[in-house]
Amino acid sequence: MHFDTRAIHFAQDSDPTTGAIASPIYQTSTFEQEAPGVNKGFDYSRTSNPTRQTLERVLANLEGVEYGAVFASGIAAENAIFQAHLNPGDHVITPTDVYGGTFRLLFNVYKPKGYHVTRVDLSDEDALIRAIRPETKIIWIETPTNPKLLIFDIEKISAIARAHGILTVVDNTFASPVLQQPFALGADLVLHSVTKYLSGHSDVIQGAVLARDPEVFAPIKYLQNATGATASAFDCWLTLRGLKTLSLRVERHAQNAQKIAESLDGHSAVNKVYYPGLASHPGHDIARRQMSAFGGVLSLELDTDLETTKRFVSTRKYFKLAESLGGVKSLICHPASMTHAAIPREERIASGLADGLIRLSVGIEDARDLLEDIEEGLDEFVIRAKKREFVFSGAE
Ligand SMILES: *Cc1c(COP(=O)(O)O)cnc(C)c1O
Repeated sequence: MHFDTRAIHFAQDSDPTTGAIASPIYQTSTFEQEAPGVNKGFDYSRTSNPTRQTLERVLANLEGVEYGAVFASGIAAENAIFQAHLNPGDHVITPTDVYGGTFRLLFNVYKPKGYHVTRVDLSDEDALIRAIRPETKIIWIETPTNPKLLIFDIEKISAIARAHGILTVVDNTFASPVLQQPFALGADLVLHSVTKYLSGHSDVIQGAVLARDPEVFAPIKYLQNATGATASAFDCWLTLRGLKTLSLRVERHAQNAQKIAESLDGHSAVNKVYYPGLASHPGHDIARRQMSAFGGVLSLELDTDLETTKRFVSTRKYFKLAESLGGVKSLICHPASMTHAAIPREERIASGLADGLIRLSVGIEDARDLLEDIEEGLDEFVIRAKKREFVFSGAE
């Protein structure tokens, strides 16, 4: 079975008792037992639920592995990985512009309890090797990153990790298994914020961990029940529904993003377009090798100040001002004041996240409408503001 067929058929046969084509929602907390401890494989929904189990099997299958655990959020899934595979004194390496929530979890929750974290430019092989210590247990890869869309070579980094006995985790949220298959490139674990492309309609918060090796997976599965951040049956059902159009959606997201990136590259109001599908992007060649298309997220650095940027993002017609990404409806966000607000300003600027940086999650609307929405805003705010500046400085 090929990917698109598996998304619809794998583990999703018609219901044997009723013939229902859609997988049922097992909206139940508990299960009747014939005798104490004798049941049909389920006893309590925190431990295991048939709808959740179906989703776990489908997600693992789409990533090309055997094991999956679904959590109440992407961050809960990340926390299970860290709790399962780190002890106090252990060390984690993440990319420099790691997702803000991952940064917060590691630096504000784990670090004060005696864990060590280093952020490294993962495209610099020597810097990565220098950062490895005897107590390094996890190299956390996120590719493409948020919001600069940096690309890291999963195959190369996981080979380095393996040579040092370190686990490689790939946060595959931005690419989705449609565009990138980290296990084929050597990853040990894949993390998803299911909230984004996998569920795909901005109506679910959910996370998942996928694994190939049962020994790496077992402590994560144990923590899913033991710490209890499990996903509801209804949310799992929504994700199963979303997955059936994952491939179609991601293809359109990527086409639209490519069109917008190409059209705005070189625009007089835009200093820089960050999109791995542009040949000028520093990660373009690696992205072409390890991804089948370049995804639906791109960032623009507007040639203007903080206030004008805030006005620009607040007044778009189709790009709704909101955190998150990966839904059918286009979203716009301002990392400096939203997703990356947890990172101190000096650090943020130093890592290249300017005040004028905006991130687009390009939806599956008609690309012409989306482009018009952005171009109108550039004209109305950025270009006019520049003209005013010119007039003022001319009057001096
Ligand atoms: C959103 C996101 C997360 C966190 O997932 P939640 O579902 O919001 O908890 C982790 N990594 C990336 C790359 C994300 O975009």
